[in-house]
Amino acid sequence: TRVLLTGGSGFIAAHTLRLLLERGHSVVTTVRTQTKADKIKAAYQSYSDKGQLGFAIVPDIASPDAFDQAVISDPPFEAVLHTASPFHFNVTDVKKDLLDPAIIGTTGILKSIKKSAPTVKRVVITSSFAAIVNADKGFWPEHTYSEDDWNPITEEQATESPIHGYRASKTFAEKAAWNFLETEKPNFTLATINPPMVYGPIIHNLDSLESMNTSNQRILFAAQGKFKDEIPPTGVHVWIDVRDVAEAHVAAMEKEAAANKRFFTVAGYFSNKEIAQIIKEEFPQYKDLPSESTPGGDYPEGGVDAVFKFNNKRSIEVLGLNITAHFHHRRQASNTTALLVHSVIMAT
Ligand code: NDP
Repeated sequence: TRVLLTGGSGFIAAHTLRLLLERGHSVVTTVRTQTKADKIKAAYQSYSDKGQLGFAIVPDIASPDAFDQAVISDPPFEAVLHTASPFHFNVTDVKKDLLDPAIIGTTGILKSIKKSAPTVKRVVITSSFAAIVNADKGFWPEHTYSEDDWNPITEEQATESPIHGYRASKTFAEKAAWNFLETEKPNFTLATINPPMVYGPIIHNLDSLESMNTSNQRILFAAQGKFKDEIPPTGVHVWIDVRDVAEAHVAAMEKEAAANKRFFTVAGYFSNKEIAQIIKEEFPQYKDLPSESTPGGDYPEGGVDAVFKFNNKRSIEVLGLNITAHFHHRRQASNTTALLVHSVIMAT
């Protein structure tokens, strides 16, 4: 398939790009600068030499016509995977820094596809559990989250804090995409991938440890000794490995049955305390790690049972994600954390 992948320099997109190329798809990925394109090209020189990988420079997705040129290609695109969206809390203006790039980026690319790329049959958008969760309900142990749930966040709440702003950006962007489908009746079908916290090895270029993507930052902080005296609250207690998220994106593009569905891709529970424990087991040489008695970072009283339930059936049945094994949680968590910490050390 001839694919346009946005935000190729990102954590999740890098794994998605790798998988697309390995599966034989022909990819153009958008990045913000030529320097970023050159770094990805160097990592995939043989694919680039074969003409299987190309680049388009899109400096700012918040500009409404950002993708007008990028969607045009020869041979024409058959699918678009839109992952680019700001995920950080380092913002001064929630609207300008988070909402606009998320919402305008999403509606902008859909408009460009409808206008100039009628051969595109499937669009996959990276949404988030942020577009599903109802933060006001807290741990909500009696509730089972699924694709039926929508974050009820309002425009007023969106500007209350950067975290509210991020969650609103994902909610409003995904809503805008489904709304576009209904009102514009384009040639393509849509699938959204809604992962919770995504962890795993870094395979994209990192200029410095400071530029570590937001979700992996907490594992970095734990490894750096920042959890020594007190482990911060976990927040959302559910996660998935980045390699499964990449698989979800590619499967949602390849599989006919994924058309017009959301996918709540979640693998299992975790806590910051467990992350710290795993780092201690895997990297006994690290200093300043928390001990058994360090406060914070745990599940609420009652453990995992006191947290909401999740339904990930659709991701397993339709996308074929391999996230069901019973021992999956702890073993996979150790594996992911170990790989991540190694990759962080290697990347810097
Ligand atoms: P990254 O920060 O690594 O990736 C974000 C990507 O978006 C980068 O390529 C970034 O480019 C690009 N981008 C951001 N703002 C703009 C802009 N204004 N113009 C052009 N490009 C922009 O994070 P992730 O890989 O984690 O995030 C990818 C997607 O996954 C996002 O949509 C995010 O919301 C979603 N997601 C992530 C989760 C996680 O836990 N990691 C969980 C759920 C969803 P550059 O690096 O050049 O700034």
